[in-house]
Amino acid sequence: MPLRLYNTMSSRVEEFRPLRDNEVRMYACGPTVYDYGHIGNFRTFVAVDLLQRFLRYSGYQVRYVMNITDVDDKIIRDAARDGVSIQQYTAKYEKAFLEDSALIGIEQPTLVRATQHIAEMAEFVAKLVEKGVAYRTDDGSYYFRIAKFSEYGKLSKKDFGGMLDGARVDVDEYDKDSARDFALWKSPKPGEASWETAIGPGRPGWHLECSVMSMEELGESFDLHAGGEDLIFPHHENEIAQSESLTGKPFAHFWFHARFLLVEGEKMSKSLGNFFTLRDLVLKGHKPSSIRYLLTSVPYRNQLNFTFDGLKQGAVSVERLRNFRLRLNGGNFPPGSNTAMQSLAIETVARMRAALDDDLNTAQAQAAIFEMVRQANAAFDTGRIKKDDVAPLLTVLAKFDEIFAVLDDDDVPKMRQVLDWAIAVGRGKDISVELRDMVQTGQLSDLEIEKKIGEMKAARNARDFKTSDAIRAELAAAGVTVEITKDGIRWRRK
Ligand code: AMP
Ligand code: ZN
Repeated sequence: MPLRLYNTMSSRVEEFRPLRDNEVRMYACGPTVYDYGHIGNFRTFVAVDLLQRFLRYSGYQVRYVMNITDVDDKIIRDAARDGVSIQQYTAKYEKAFLEDSALIGIEQPTLVRATQHIAEMAEFVAKLVEKGVAYRTDDGSYYFRIAKFSEYGKLSKKDFGGMLDGARVDVDEYDKDSARDFALWKSPKPGEASWETAIGPGRPGWHLECSVMSMEELGESFDLHAGGEDLIFPHHENEIAQSESLTGKPFAHFWFHARFLLVEGEKMSKSLGNFFTLRDLVLKGHKPSSIRYLLTSVPYRNQLNFTFDGLKQGAVSVERLRNFRLRLNGGNFPPGSNTAMQSLAIETVARMRAALDDDLNTAQAQAAIFEMVRQANAAFDTGRIKKDDVAPLLTVLAKFDEIFAVLDDDDVPKMRQVLDWAIAVGRGKDISVELRDMVQTGQLSDLEIEKKIGEMKAARNARDFKTSDAIRAELAAAGVTVEITKDGIRWRRK
């Protein structure tokens, strides 16, 4: 079964087929780097990460590009407030975005930055003027004339029949119900960053950035364009108008939008006190893997209600999967194979695949793996898992993790990084007892323990018992008991 995906443009679930052979070219609107990313942002970024992982899993070659908006109204305002250049200002938050993405298991896309494509953007505007769909105003700004694009509104399904030709707006985000000629290029204002270009001095509008960079990286028509649902109008509508007016070709084939998340049943907002960055959650002692798991547990088009109970549940789920894997890796199994376990593994892979092919039904895919864990644990307890069943079951877990990416236990080192950051930026008071306990009691993550066990094995193979004993003592001090048996080395926490 091929992947079926909802396309905002057609308002239907459609079969996904790339335009070119086996290659998928996709673009996601990335962050505006003026602050730390919040969990709403990461709901969307994780959803797109999961999509690209699943496309690759399905055998496609994926070229995934994301922009970093490093010049816009908010950045200019906040850099001026802090008295720093916009480069200094955005460098800090771009770094934070990359760290946070890694924290939550996002594979890094090809990143493109607005300020590195200014000349191409000016050129794009000049071409639109040549075509008669853009015009210059007295102050040197340029606007897109939406009356010239008869399909304006086709993505957001808004009817702009009564719109006023020539009414203009120069802010990037505006009233959701009005259509206005929007700024492609903004003339310089005192104290604002601007660039000298072929169309005069100024800076690009936000919508223009994405049109220029996506087409430059992926071609005039590409497979998929993604973002949160708030971007449908005006951002994506405007991208389509600019791009298609210029090329006369369809811009993106599929439009993928993640639904906005709620926090404890309400829209996230600073004034309600339910606004959380990823770092806020880690400071409270939550593991990155629990956050990622929770964000993927509700299919991207359903409303995810982010709650602390849900986060605890996420932690339990991840723990259950990790324990099952440890059990398989560390157990002693009778020789042979059990056909029930062999077919359970095959069926689970098929169920996961079918669920994800169905417009990325992540909840069903997770249900499939838990059903396998339930049945396999029961079989384990009654000696019905045989030696040759272990590899197929481990393979299912590995396949699940190619997409969900929560099994490898690197939570503690990641949490330690957040703790160190909090101290460095003077947020030590926000470090919870839970986080301190996890990081500072010297608790090693499973991954760190496995690494040390590997070093112990290597030392023993080299008959270097002194080193092996030293590692064993170190593990004991960290609360890990190591047993050396004729079948190998086993460990457990005290
Ligand atoms: P921004 O940095 O504001 O441009 O947003 C980056 C991405 O996060 C965009 O794709 C937004 O649509 C998305 N986003 C912002 N808030 C939320 C939310 N509450 N839920 C889901 N996605 C969001
Ligand atoms: Zn964009």
